[in-house]
Amino acid sequence: MSDSIVRGLAAGGQIRAFAAVTTALTEEARQKHNTSPVMTAALGRLLTAAAILGTQLKGTDDKLTLKIKGDGPAESLYAVADAHGHVKGFAANPQVILHARADGKLDVGGAIGKGELTVIRDLGLKEPYIGTCELVSGEIAEDLTAYFAISEQTPTSVSLGVLMNRNNTVAHAGGFLLQLMPGVSAEDAARLEERILAQPPITAMLGQGRTPEDILQILLDGFEPEALERSEVSFFCDCSREKMEDVLISLGRHELLDLMVSQETVEVHCDFCNRYYRFSRQEMKDLFKRHFRTGGSA
Ligand SMILES: [Zn+2]
Repeated sequence: MSDSIVRGLAAGGQIRAFAAVTTALTEEARQKHNTSPVMTAALGRLLTAAAILGTQLKGTDDKLTLKIKGDGPAESLYAVADAHGHVKGFAANPQVILHARADGKLDVGGAIGKGELTVIRDLGLKEPYIGTCELVSGEIAEDLTAYFAISEQTPTSVSLGVLMNRNNTVAHAGGFLLQLMPGVSAEDAARLEERILAQPPITAMLGQGRTPEDILQILLDGFEPEALERSEVSFFCDCSREKMEDVLISLGRHELLDLMVSQETVEVHCDFCNRYYRFSRQEMKDLFKRHFRTGGSA
């Protein structure tokens, strides 16, 4: 099953629902960043959440960023999604090794620790919309639930899961997100919560071969799910040589001149996909000429 997200409505539009399978993109992130098991789980959960929230973007250049900064060994994690089903991300410290928790699960909360979750929606306006909330557990799904309750006043149920194979590759990854609009009765909200709690973990459902559509049908049983729409999602980094040239130019003429004189080649790293772009002295010279000599005032 390729990675995809299904979104829909239920209870006459009062429940917004999303379910995602993100196994391939989480495995791709693991390979690109060579993450340890606990960091594969942390990054996979964050990428899954970003991918789901990214489906709410409308503008072609809109971006959604999830950023976690904690006092644990993972330090910080980033995930960015766009409106086209692309998601990318990285962890500041991808190789954290921690003992599993007493229940056998990877200790994502221990890797992240205490800190903050920030949600940035860049919708092409003058200023991006930024919301921040203190981490509840560092387990990411609970932190997002708290974020939506506190920062956006939207009751939300979030589940995110990454299950590893014995050889530390990704067996299953996915998640769901259900949001209640203001019209939902307390009775319905309680019934939905019961329904959610009665289900096995998301990775177990994926392991049984359930599709995102199946998962929404199960979760929303009795709430008349409708308008289910599926879209593809994948790990994709939009970095390019041109963007990395811009990074070099942004250093300014003095710094670039210094680099040109002191380095035979310079490497610019893309944090999101862990790719290096190499520039030879001659290439730096050409870049310098194009942007600083003929450019005049810069
Ligand atoms: Zn990149």
